Amino acid sequence: MVKETKYYECLGVDPSATEAQLKTAYKKGALKFHPDKNKNNPEAAEKFKELSHAYEILSDSQKRAIYDQYGEEGLEGGGAGGGMNAEDLFSQFFGGGGAFGGMFGGGMRDTGPKKARTIHHVHKVNLEDIYRGKVSKLALQKSVICSGCEGRGGKEGAVKECTGCNGSGMKTMMRQMGPMIQRFQTVCPDCNGEGEIIRDKDRCKKCNGKKTVVERKVLHVHVDKGVRDGHKIEFRGEGDQMPGVMPGDVVFEIEQKPHPRFQRKNDDLFYQAEIDLLTALAGGTIHIEHLDDRWLTVNIAPGEVIVPDAIKVIHGQGMPSFRHHDFGNLYIKFDVKFPEKDQLQNLDLLEKDFELEDIDTTENSQARAHGAAGAMDEDDDDVPPGAERVQCASQ
Ligand SMILES: [Zn+2]
Ligand SMILES: [Zn+2]
Repeated sequence: MVKETKYYECLGVDPSATEAQLKTAYKKGALKFHPDKNKNNPEAAEKFKELSHAYEILSDSQKRAIYDQYGEEGLEGGGAGGGMNAEDLFSQFFGGGGAFGGMFGGGMRDTGPKKARTIHHVHKVNLEDIYRGKVSKLALQKSVICSGCEGRGGKEGAVKECTGCNGSGMKTMMRQMGPMIQRFQTVCPDCNGEGEIIRDKDRCKKCNGKKTVVERKVLHVHVDKGVRDGHKIEFRGEGDQMPGVMPGDVVFEIEQKPHPRFQRKNDDLFYQAEIDLLTALAGGTIHIEHLDDRWLTVNIAPGEVIVPDAIKVIHGQGMPSFRHHDFGNLYIKFDVKFPEKDQLQNLDLLEKDFELEDIDTTENSQARAHGAAGAMDEDDDDVPPGAERVQCASQ
C-alpha cells in the first residue's frame, strides 16, 4: 500500500515532521487562510477547513499513526467530515472570539508580556491625616512564586506535558449515541485543563503543585499632605506573582472620609459657624478647632455686622496643597441664630427692660447677678421670668 501523505502536503510539511514543525505549519497556514482575512475567497475557506482537519489528525499521535499506516480510510469518520470545528481549533491557538480583531487590528498585541491581575484597594483617610500627612501600613494577601519549587510545581523534570491533551488542556471526546458517534470537546480529565501533569510523589510539598503560595505583605502607603480624593498610589510589581507572567501591580485609591466640621473643595476648607444675633450685631469672638488640634480665635469686630449666610475668609488656613508648600483658604459661613419668638418680644422691650433693671436690682440680687454674668447665657432656660428680662436688659 502506498503511504498517503495528503495531510502533510496540505500543511506543507514533510511526513517526518516533528510536532513542533506541524504546529508552526498549522499556525502559519491558518492565519493565511482564515475566512476573516479572505472574505471574497471561498477557496481559502475550504483550504482553512482542510488545514484544520489535517492538523487535528496529525497532532494526535494515535491518529497520526493510523493515518500513516492506513491513510484516510483508516480513520474513524473518514475524511473531511466530522472532527473538531475548524474555528474551535483556531481559537485554541490564538485565543477565543474575534481573534483577528486583536491579532491584526492591534498589531500582534497578544505577543506582549502577560501580567498578573492588578490588586485594587480603596484606602479611606480622614481629613486630619490628609492635613498632616502620614504613612499607612497596609497588609495584603498575595500569591508569590513558591520558593520550594521555584514555580515549577514539583521537582525539576517532574512536570510533564499532559499526553491526554498534548498540553492544550482540552480534549476531543467521543460518545456512542445509538448508530452515531458524537464528538465533543471537553476539559481534559487527565490534567484538569492545566495541560501538564505532576506525579504525586514529585509534587512540591510547599505549594502542593500549585506553583504559588499566598503570602502576607505589608506596604507603606504615603498619604502625602494635601492629597486629593481619588488620587491613586501605585506599587508596580507588588501584586500577585504567577509563573511565566509579569507580577501584577497594587493600586491604592485615596478616599477622603467626610469630616464633621469641615468641608473641602480642592485646597480650601469650608466651615459653618453658628453665632447669636448679639455677636452678629455687636461683635465678639468665635473659636474654631482646626485639623491639627490648634484652636483658631476669630474676632468679629464690633460694628462689622454679620448678615445671615455671610461668608468671610481667613487666608492660608485651608488645606496644604499637594506637593507644594502653600495653603488654601478657610471660608467661614455664618449661621446667625435669631432669638425665639418670645425672646423677640423681649428684644422689642429693650429700652424698657433697661429701665426695669434699675428697679429689679434692688429687689432681686440673684437676677442682677445673672444679668452681670453677661449675655452669653442667653440659652439658659432655667432663669425665672424676671431674671430673663434683666438679662436681656444687660444686652
Ligand atoms: Zn512549590
Ligand atoms: Zn491534559
